[in-house]
Amino acid sequence: MRTRAVPPAIKRKKGEGQWALGYREPLNKNEENKKNDDGLNVRRRIIDVYSKNGFDSIDPADLRGRFRWMGLYTQRKPGIDGGKTGALEDEELEDKYFMMRIRIDGGQLDGPQLRAIADISTLYARGTADITDRHNVQLHWVRIEDVPAIWDRLAEVGLHTTEACGDVPRTIIGCPLAGIAEDELIDATPNLRDIHDRYIGSPEFSNLPRKYKTALSGCTSHCTVHEINDIAFVGVVNENGETGYQVFVGGGLSTNPMFSKSLGVFVRPEQTHEIWHGVTSIFRDYGYRRLRSRARLKFLMKDWGPEKFREVLEKEYLGYALPDGPEPAAPRPGRDHTGVHRQKDGNYYVGFAPRVGRVNGELLGVIADLANEYGSGRVRTTLEQKLVILDVPQERTEELAAKLAGHDLHVNPSVFRRHMMACTGIEFCKLAITNTKQRAMDLMDELEKRLPDFDQPLTININGCPNSCARVQVADIGLKGQLVVDENGDQVEGFQISLGGQLGGAFGKKVRGLKTTSAGLTDYVERVVRKFDEQRTDGETFAEWA
Ligand code: SF4
Repeated sequence: MRTRAVPPAIKRKKGEGQWALGYREPLNKNEENKKNDDGLNVRRRIIDVYSKNGFDSIDPADLRGRFRWMGLYTQRKPGIDGGKTGALEDEELEDKYFMMRIRIDGGQLDGPQLRAIADISTLYARGTADITDRHNVQLHWVRIEDVPAIWDRLAEVGLHTTEACGDVPRTIIGCPLAGIAEDELIDATPNLRDIHDRYIGSPEFSNLPRKYKTALSGCTSHCTVHEINDIAFVGVVNENGETGYQVFVGGGLSTNPMFSKSLGVFVRPEQTHEIWHGVTSIFRDYGYRRLRSRARLKFLMKDWGPEKFREVLEKEYLGYALPDGPEPAAPRPGRDHTGVHRQKDGNYYVGFAPRVGRVNGELLGVIADLANEYGSGRVRTTLEQKLVILDVPQERTEELAAKLAGHDLHVNPSVFRRHMMACTGIEFCKLAITNTKQRAMDLMDELEKRLPDFDQPLTININGCPNSCARVQVADIGLKGQLVVDENGDQVEGFQISLGGQLGGAFGKKVRGLKTTSAGLTDYVERVVRKFDEQRTDGETFAEWA
């Protein structure tokens, strides 16, 4: 009897969990949690149950998952060293207190808002307050019992923490000088508010494959880091002389850094929310949900390319074709917002530098008072962990600068203070391996002493782990926290070093084995900076030199 040959097994490509292709069943724990309950629903439980019954009453799926939708993370227990990160269970690593991220879309605050944040910090967060590199303020030591009162106080002034973390549209970043910069093409504030008011907190986008970052700016200096956002609108004038936006999609850092790609379109300001809706819907429907490590929009863009992305956007989501836009402008260094500069209405803005974004409730109260006394009360947070007071008459700027300096807030800081950033690090972050904030402050103080005359722009960004909350890959000197082996063969806290990263240019070069212990950090950075200063030619930047 003849037997039939068994056909070779058909090799199926494993699905990526894309909803639009029919993969609706969750393929991992995170997707399962999101399917079980919308993250936004946790707000009610926090108010009605957890804040009344205390930390131990919190369902673990809420605590380590959905709380993020409300801007809350448990913080790291004090005293657990970096070597234990990843080796301990969550319960062993986490404290019964929270980090709370207050959303400040566009970095725009008025007097009562800054005062409210200052009061909350003092009353409920042991005075902590850090300015992040996406405009937000992060508080620590928050108790679950106090969360409803904090939300009430924020709501009184039009602020909130909804979708400040989680697989959702995060804080929308904008130019800190929107509406006041003399050279801006378009004030993007109304478009930014429009997207915020329509879609933030909406169940339509409360279950995305991963976090989703938006930038929207109409200024000419490209300071909103559009190259590393999931979606970015950048002001432009087209060939007909109309002002609108170019659109960039699919940028992001973390462990697989990628720069965004231009879709090649021109968007009129009134279309902005529609385009944002379309691109975000593509991410929700076609984004990869199987592996968390491949879930950011950049991976879909890498596979599709900008032409296909644009085609799907136009055909499946908008139902119309967008006009072509101008070629993207060459990358240029973003504006540094410190110093005293003229606004378009003739008043002045005064930008100053807290050390790596670290302030406190009392200091925020002082800044709020100064902004009221010398300006209109309006304050902006920047993407470099700095602050700007707006609307100051020219004749009062010097006095304001002197008062700020009295609080160690310098309008003309050293290059090290001006350009250094650090993430949260081991002090509070459960993923951290190294200390970052204090390390950065010590480094800054020491470099100011050792290199008092160095005056070239130089960014030094410090992360406490391989994630990239402080954008290490696009810094002149990027320091990524990890354990390293010291001269005695012991594992100690240290950093992997990358050099010469530049937005729109190239990511920092990682030289194999280029690492330093934390103890050797200052000497290492000093050596590199001195070498650059000796060898650079006129006008040569650090990235070009490195
Ligand atoms: Fe935490 Fe790492 Fe982000 Fe720093 S870079 S805040 S250590 S996750």
